Amino acid sequence: MLTKPAIKGGDTELIKVINRFNILDAVRRFEPLSRADIGKHTGLSRSTISGIVAGLLQEGLVCEEGVDGSAAATRGRPTNLLRLNPNAAFVVGAKLAMHQVIIVVTNLRAEPLAQLVLPIRPWRLGPEAIATLLDDGIRAVITRAGLMLDQIAGVGIGLPGFIDSEEGISYWSPILAADPIAVRFSDMLRQHLDLPVTLENDANLLALAERWFGHGQDVDNFVVILIDAGIGMGLFINGDLYRGHHHIGTEFGHSKIDRHGPRCRCGQNGCIEAFTADYAILREARKVMDMPPADDEAAVAAAVENVIRMARGGNEKLQEIFKNVGEILGLGIANLINILDPAKVILSGTNMHAMDLIGPSLHAAVAGSTLSVLKGRCEIILHDWNDEVWARGAASLVLEGLYRKPWSSAVGATIEITQQPNTTRVS
Ligand SMILES: [Zn+2]
Repeated sequence: MLTKPAIKGGDTELIKVINRFNILDAVRRFEPLSRADIGKHTGLSRSTISGIVAGLLQEGLVCEEGVDGSAAATRGRPTNLLRLNPNAAFVVGAKLAMHQVIIVVTNLRAEPLAQLVLPIRPWRLGPEAIATLLDDGIRAVITRAGLMLDQIAGVGIGLPGFIDSEEGISYWSPILAADPIAVRFSDMLRQHLDLPVTLENDANLLALAERWFGHGQDVDNFVVILIDAGIGMGLFINGDLYRGHHHIGTEFGHSKIDRHGPRCRCGQNGCIEAFTADYAILREARKVMDMPPADDEAAVAAAVENVIRMARGGNEKLQEIFKNVGEILGLGIANLINILDPAKVILSGTNMHAMDLIGPSLHAAVAGSTLSVLKGRCEIILHDWNDEVWARGAASLVLEGLYRKPWSSAVGATIEITQQPNTTRVS
């Protein structure tokens, strides 16, 4: 299968970078691969592959099986199969959630070497204190992995909100400030760590995680819908994460489904999120039952949990709320399918556990509003991840960048690329 069409004309340097990424990505996803196998996956010519692979071998990013003597040769397999060298680089990924901070160190394959979970509510601290906390946490987890700070090629940070990944700016995030204030959070953290820092919206991290080690490995066009405290979306088009012209697009949760609909956190009316997020479910539940106020994230989560339990217990008015949530999400997903024609729509997030209540009306709405020519052709997948995957997604964000750069500019000369970490994988 071709991972994406190879470009054969135009800007030479750009073509080289794209071809190099495609070769490295093919080796990561399908290893071990011969040079001929790489040709099948990328559509590139033998001479292009040999030239780029020679460079990758020299840089230590890939290794040839059998060269060191061992296993491959004794098993009688060809000696020219290529594998990624997982210890050619190490990166850090961190996910800031309302109730916890998770930090992970991974190798070049995004395999976790060590992780740290801080059960704190970062939104209480403010951006500068969060940066200080991350500084301490990242240093601790690097030590735990048996590495030094100068062996880390970069740090990826994920958080909910309107994030410009290109500029490292959070225009709004419930983690950093309740009000929409632009925070140059990448710069803030870079000042602490003196490492490249990349900021990203958390739904995009999940889409990257699907691409690197989930359901997005075998398809180039897919959508991830995050059903969480808010509603997020990550989108892969032709094998690349799509962010939009200003890098803050794909806000599925704020697409409008009813112009007379309820008020949303974004200040506008009728957004999908205003019907389907945790706070929307509580707002509707309060119309049919008495509930104590829930003024922070933990209280909201506990209250929603209670509403789910009562709906499962037979409360028909509450069941109706979840049926409506499913219908709205299903309509939104059908719109996405009609616009984008993705191979898969992957649903993820903490509210996935209410799918027994939401699922039937969601599937019915998708089926009822998808164009007949596309009906039943897009796979709808429910994917319940563990928390660590977010941080691995953040690490993949840095790795994506590394795969695309000439190696000498991506990793400092101080890094000994053959050095092994002294820990084993934790996953
Ligand atoms: Zn909105």
